[in-house]
Amino acid sequence: MTVNNSGVPRLRFAPSPTGYLHVGGARTALFNWLYARRHGGVFVLRIEDTDVERSQAEMVTGILDGLRWLGIDWDEGPEIGGPHAPYYQSQRLDRYRAAARQLLDSGQAFEDGGAIRFKVPPGKTSFADSVHGPIEFDNEHIESFVILRSDTHPTYHLSVVVDDIDMAITHVVRGDDHISNTPKQVLLYQAFGKTPPAFAHVPLIMGADKQRLSKRHGATSVMEYETLGYLPEAMVNFLALLGWGTGSNDELLTKDELIQRFDLDGISGGNAVFNTEKLDWFNHQYLLKLTDNELTSRLQAQRPGAWDLGKDAAWSARVLALLRPRCKRLTDYRDQLAPFFVDPASYDADGVKKHLSAPGMAAHLAALKDAYATVAPFDEASTEQALRALADARGLKAAALIHGTRLAMTGRMVSPGIFEMLVLLGRDRVLSRLDALATHLANDPTS
Ligand code: GLU
Repeated sequence: MTVNNSGVPRLRFAPSPTGYLHVGGARTALFNWLYARRHGGVFVLRIEDTDVERSQAEMVTGILDGLRWLGIDWDEGPEIGGPHAPYYQSQRLDRYRAAARQLLDSGQAFEDGGAIRFKVPPGKTSFADSVHGPIEFDNEHIESFVILRSDTHPTYHLSVVVDDIDMAITHVVRGDDHISNTPKQVLLYQAFGKTPPAFAHVPLIMGADKQRLSKRHGATSVMEYETLGYLPEAMVNFLALLGWGTGSNDELLTKDELIQRFDLDGISGGNAVFNTEKLDWFNHQYLLKLTDNELTSRLQAQRPGAWDLGKDAAWSARVLALLRPRCKRLTDYRDQLAPFFVDPASYDADGVKKHLSAPGMAAHLAALKDAYATVAPFDEASTEQALRALADARGLKAAALIHGTRLAMTGRMVSPGIFEMLVLLGRDRVLSRLDALATHLANDPTS
């Protein structure tokens, strides 16, 4: 692979701040970052904000936040500067104007109605792509493209090449929608008398329907995934495997393992499909790896002060153990923890209709409450036994009382094992919730 004189690979992520950090952009950033980290290189972040009308400062903040959330740190770029500062293209306009002037002076560009166009020489332009192999374009099909607009703003081709040269970039890893731009950029490198970097054009991310990933498929902004309850380490692992593979079945790879194993050779030319179920699987695995303390602090960070899981460590540990197999996202915990802290605010209407509309349910639940007032010990076996005995005595199916109890405790039709929940809720709350539902049914049995 080509490297600069110092032998240190230099890679960059060069987003245009016209939107938030998209999962596709994050994957591109990640591949560049992984390669730089693996090879002791430098990862540069450069903001391509020459399109003043479409670029917004707020989007830059969003992109930086997204990268930080994923733990993709940059060695040179916004906020930290570096030897090739500034890292905002909008602050480098003079540099592009001088470069355009240089090509004009050397006869490799010409003026055309106030704009400056590159004079495409005859012949063919080729480059090696480590994903797609050698690629060649006939220059005949490349029009004399604008490099500096009449308003003296550079086009993308000029600014990207000038900056990649100035910033001594050795490897360009980007989406394969840029393949058709590459011959123009290679021609510019040649015109400036420079060797082009190594290129790796990564297949675009598709939705399950094999169409380019878009809002239609769900969340596309990285930070939306934080809100949806995903862990950044799961996201990184998942994104790394979108278009890249280890060549083995190993999938669950920490960031350090990814750094050790990542290489451009492992990028496949086929499209990468964004499979949300797979992402959920990764997230679940990473959630399971967290200790109770770590999980608790992640939950607190998502929703500070919502529930104080730290109050009784032994009790919290048992609650979390019950929920862990069921929760694939942090937001699932938020949802499933609720019954352990607050009484149901309402009862699932379908559940009430289906399980509690038979006459006498209010009385059955009141009887269960009485039984639970004295059952001892208040553990899983005894609460289950008492419920079954009561169902027998009253000529009911145990399932009817179980559904009723679940609705009383959670307001819902689905929950973790109900007897485990009863024990964790404790006798007092169980009695008052049974009483609340019995009263509710007695007052208005239809609702
Ligand atoms: N600003 C360009 C983009 O966001 C960068 C392309 C490149 O990496 O050269 O698509």
